[in-house]
Amino acid sequence: MSTMNTVGRPTAPNQVSEKPATLTGGRGLLQNEALIFEGEGWGKTGVDLPEPKTTGSDLGDLVRKDPIGLPGLSEPEAMRHYVRLSQKNHAIDLAIYPLGSCTMKHNPRLNEKMARLPGFSDIHPLQPISTVQGALELMDTLAHWLKTLTGMPAVALSPKAGAHGELCGLMAIRAAHEASGQHEKRRKVLVPTSAHGTNPATAAFVGYSVVEVAQTDDGRVDVADLASKLGDDVAAIMVTNPNTCGLFERDILEISRLTHEAGAYFYCDGANFNAIVGRVRPGDLGVDAMHINLHKTFSTPHGGGGPGAGPVVLSEALAPFAPAPWVVHDDNGYRLVEREEDEAAQAFGRLCAFQGQMGMYVRALSYMLSHGSDGLRQVAEDAVLNANYIKARLQDLMSPAFPDGPCMHEALFDDEWLKGTDITTLDFAKAMIDEGFHPMTMYFPLVVHGAMLIEPTETESKAELDRFIHAMRLLAEAAKAGDVDRFKGAPFHAPLRRLDETRAARSPVLRWTAPAGSNQAA
Ligand SMILES: *Cc1c(COP(=O)(O)O)cnc(C)c1O
Repeated sequence: MSTMNTVGRPTAPNQVSEKPATLTGGRGLLQNEALIFEGEGWGKTGVDLPEPKTTGSDLGDLVRKDPIGLPGLSEPEAMRHYVRLSQKNHAIDLAIYPLGSCTMKHNPRLNEKMARLPGFSDIHPLQPISTVQGALELMDTLAHWLKTLTGMPAVALSPKAGAHGELCGLMAIRAAHEASGQHEKRRKVLVPTSAHGTNPATAAFVGYSVVEVAQTDDGRVDVADLASKLGDDVAAIMVTNPNTCGLFERDILEISRLTHEAGAYFYCDGANFNAIVGRVRPGDLGVDAMHINLHKTFSTPHGGGGPGAGPVVLSEALAPFAPAPWVVHDDNGYRLVEREEDEAAQAFGRLCAFQGQMGMYVRALSYMLSHGSDGLRQVAEDAVLNANYIKARLQDLMSPAFPDGPCMHEALFDDEWLKGTDITTLDFAKAMIDEGFHPMTMYFPLVVHGAMLIEPTETESKAELDRFIHAMRLLAEAAKAGDVDRFKGAPFHAPLRRLDETRAARSPVLRWTAPAGSNQAA
């Protein structure tokens, strides 16, 4: 279907806003779906099982006395409920998901197929080691790829997200300072102003005080400011490279030299590894610890808050402090080093009960093997090319935050170009929804006013990028032409209109309570 030309001629905004709401709340073949607890027909069941023989319970007083409070649904009702809910949401399988800093790429079906192989999906973490040799070999192979791609000697696979990986890295750093007797005096962690919020949060969580490092006018770490803040009271720096402005830290070697000279460790936030995978090895840059968001760089679904994995690669200096478990192998096959004794004597402990996110390991390795080492290099090149294409095609209408030179895998715009229009970054993003496009990341990084951070990833074709660019250009032109209504009231066509997101975040209603008089007590 060619929608290119129709995108430009939506109904005039006034007409749209004045149209009556539909009578049912449904719209255009999309049903208005209530919460499952608000449905009818609680007495039903979707299965037909023989009555269980009632046997005694060991639970004594703890046996439930009231009904469990779950609705009974037939299979079609259950299916429809979830499919209707899914239609209210965006998905990477529908269109580009240009959220900067999130690396929302296509998830190949092959990965899903591999993750569902019974030898990976149906195993239990406490199974005898002899019965899970293949799974352990897969973890070992993944570890090998991660170490090779980063040029680092060790990796802790178990962290379950990027933020968890940051925690792992900083705990390893703290353990190393404790081992050398320097923990008491090294109480600070330096973090640039453009950092993702998880960086200072992690440092504070581990007990450090956070010191901000200034940024230069061209969006990089201010090395002079960093140098002036480094000293024997600093435990580590946390730097993202490429940084959250989508720029490569060109002084990275100097940054790591100064850091090590001061006796501190260099933690690199590896969330943006997609831009350099296969081209730059962080180990060569002097990085001591870096998390890799498998769910970003190596695909794996994470749009709906699905499981992630944030393995942390470690330098020679930090490797002894890696948390258990890890996989080793010898003539007897593969096994896990589990406890903080013998080989793991200096491990700082464990980050999670078992071995981490097996399904994510399988998906990530599947992505790596299907691309090969040359293909992964091309991932980085195409991701960077795509972002620069977007930047180049939009920069006459919108204002790039750092116009000089190419960007890495993200194109960052500020709201300078909206000055005088009465339209904000938020309004613009909401109008994108009406045009069928998920907005980019907004107002991050904080160092750029009204930031719009666009990350296309390598998996978008030129045709898809052109569709996106076409919509962005039409919207930008409408904004400049003073078509304010289109933006102020947007979204007009989404299942829900503009929400009070601040209130939703500050006072979320997390529990559904049955209306008074209802017998559906949960
Ligand atoms: C995504 C991201 C993180 C956190 O990763 P999670 O997997 O979401 O915990 C940290 N830093 C940056 C720059 C990120 O983009």
